[in-house]
Amino acid sequence: MDKLVATRDGMESEPEVHRPKLVYPFAETPKPGEAVDVAAGVKWLRMPLGGSLAWINVWAIADGEGWAIADTGMGGADTQQAWRKAFAGPLAGRPVTRVFVTHMHPDHIGMAGWLTRRFHCKLWISRLEFLMCRSLAADTGREAPPDALEFYKAAGWDEEALETYRARFGGFGRGLHALPDSFHRVRDGDEIRIGEHLWRVVVGSGHSPEHVCLYCPELKTVITGDQVLPKISSNVSVFPTEPDGDPLTEWLTTLAAIKARIPDEVLVLPAHNEPFRGLHARIDHLIGGHERNLVRLRTAIAEPKRAVDVFGALLKRRIDGGLLGLATGESLAHLNCLIARGEAVRRRDAAGVDWYQAA
Ligand SMILES: [Zn+2]
Repeated sequence: MDKLVATRDGMESEPEVHRPKLVYPFAETPKPGEAVDVAAGVKWLRMPLGGSLAWINVWAIADGEGWAIADTGMGGADTQQAWRKAFAGPLAGRPVTRVFVTHMHPDHIGMAGWLTRRFHCKLWISRLEFLMCRSLAADTGREAPPDALEFYKAAGWDEEALETYRARFGGFGRGLHALPDSFHRVRDGDEIRIGEHLWRVVVGSGHSPEHVCLYCPELKTVITGDQVLPKISSNVSVFPTEPDGDPLTEWLTTLAAIKARIPDEVLVLPAHNEPFRGLHARIDHLIGGHERNLVRLRTAIAEPKRAVDVFGALLKRRIDGGLLGLATGESLAHLNCLIARGEAVRRRDAAGVDWYQAA
């Protein structure tokens, strides 16, 4: 049985027996500040996260005179120390040429500002990820806005849960080293030469708005960030800034597109857990899991239910305070997807609470 973990990135909610058999070709995992070679000119490093997820994988790709970095770790002293050790060890003697970031979550972009300033290089990121990160970082230190409180009240949160939300609001920027003020835009379909090889940009959406995967056909390798993880079902959530959003449809559509655009034989370099082979089986399993959840959810709302009443249809675990936000966001993503498919309707009652029922 796997250790169950949950963060902004997602939850390990499936027991191992239900997963497809993936192949993990590397026996060893890198210690902080050390590296394991995973493809020609591509090194695997891990940065500490402190929480239950423990590590994020980051990648150094030989880029002429130096290293292109892909993802950077959570902002903070522990990650700085791990990077310093790497620059004194396996990456020594060559500068960072540019910093790619798959998406705007703090464990991925957190150290981007520190790295780009230290090496006077550019952040390479998609436009929506950069802007969304700036937007969320601007909430740091603000009070929880009325729109957000109305959103969680509509989902069925009680006064105590709303109070906890108020008290914790504005924490996003704490995991970020000050962001760079400019960036180099990366777009879906771009072909980027890094060192001796071309890497193709394949964008996904749903976990974050314009998530970049980097696929190198010559090396038969793809850096997937949080878009495809081997053991975690990535968090796909509706947030208060866009209550009517349908990220799950985007997630399912882009996962299917990634399967069509990237062959099965690649080595997958994910942001969490270990590099693996079995991309297509993993994508099929992820899509199948959400479709099964949608079927269970539709049954669960035969009678009108609130978002907080349907956690059991999606997650096989007890939801306590720390997971309430994640579970609510995931439930709303599935409910909004059913509404978009014409399979459910939503009605707001006089108290401002939304009730969902199968159509
Ligand atoms: Zn993420």
